[in-house]
Amino acid sequence: MTNKIRVGVLGFGGLGQAAARLLAQKQEMILVAAADKDGYVYDSNGLNEDVCIKTYYEKGSVGHVEAGGLLTNQSINELISKADVDGYFLALPNLPNNFMADVTRQFINSGWQGVLVDALKRTSAMEQILALKDELQAAGITYMTGCGATPGLLTAAAAIASQSYAEIHSVKITFGVGIANWEAYRATIREDIAHLPGFNVEKARSMTDAEVEAFLDKTNGILTLENMEHADDIMLELAGICRRDQVTVGGVVDTRNAKKPLSTNVEVTGRTFEGKISTHTFTLGDETSMAANVCGPAFGYLKTGVSLQRRGMCGLFTATEVMPQFVR
Ligand code: NAD
Repeated sequence: MTNKIRVGVLGFGGLGQAAARLLAQKQEMILVAAADKDGYVYDSNGLNEDVCIKTYYEKGSVGHVEAGGLLTNQSINELISKADVDGYFLALPNLPNNFMADVTRQFINSGWQGVLVDALKRTSAMEQILALKDELQAAGITYMTGCGATPGLLTAAAAIASQSYAEIHSVKITFGVGIANWEAYRATIREDIAHLPGFNVEKARSMTDAEVEAFLDKTNGILTLENMEHADDIMLELAGICRRDQVTVGGVVDTRNAKKPLSTNVEVTGRTFEGKISTHTFTLGDETSMAANVCGPAFGYLKTGVSLQRRGMCGLFTATEVMPQFVR
């Protein structure tokens, strides 16, 4: 197919690499750019995901890739000005909590126009992106926020499920994540630890890998998370579906076992127009990984973003406002 959507991935850790693997099976999108904190790689003819992943593991940065790689500690800025990209998936750690908003400002200030998609998790982080709404619009950027699994796929499912009801009473998201090795998803695990009692974003950010490991040793590799600060709440409130205090998010992460400790699901309880109280439950298949449930929706929303952008629609959209399109 001609006119493939040219995609860049910022952050080449667990999710960034999964994104590259997923895109290799798509006909409608082509991965042309990737960046990590020490460099970037750009090739308008497309990147070889195996080479990028192998190089990242062996040498520490995609900047070492022979064809199109460059080492720099300004990888995002340099890539924005150099690469011809329709849309970026921001698979970056949001550490500190304002990192994604800072990166968004870099895009706004650069004059670049296109689509940005994030899989941001914290409400307070998304509020910073929401505050940039007018600037994104003026810059000609179509920004899709909260487009991973939760927030993302599950929040969008809750928005659809709410249609059966005249009044929503609660939205309860419960996730189970199984990863064989925490080091494959360092930022995800640090950000999860930040939700535990006695921790915060700054504390989790400053923990060394050895400290994270020692902490996980004490919990047998299990993180049990309750009442998390998750942007699903603000997204459902903005969509007019319910108040944010009616949304709860929690889950269990097993960092030593690829098998999910429980089935990820969202329960939407409400009252129908006839006065019946009921609950819709949407459960993800246990075989689907976190990477599949984050990267799939992220690119589905990127495709939607591109079609909005081509119709002249810029600014900020959350995953509850529009449907993700299926990427072939
Ligand atoms: P990771 O730690 O595995 O990788 C992070 C990558 O970002 C690394 O390649 C690193 O080099 C790069 N990076 C760091 N600073 C950079 C900079 N200044 N410039 C360029 N690159 C930089 O991360 P991960 O575990 O894949 O998680 C990525 C994000 O996805 C996290 O914020 C996490 O919370 C989020 N996430 C969201 C969901 C969801 O459902 N919404 C689920 C899982 C993870």
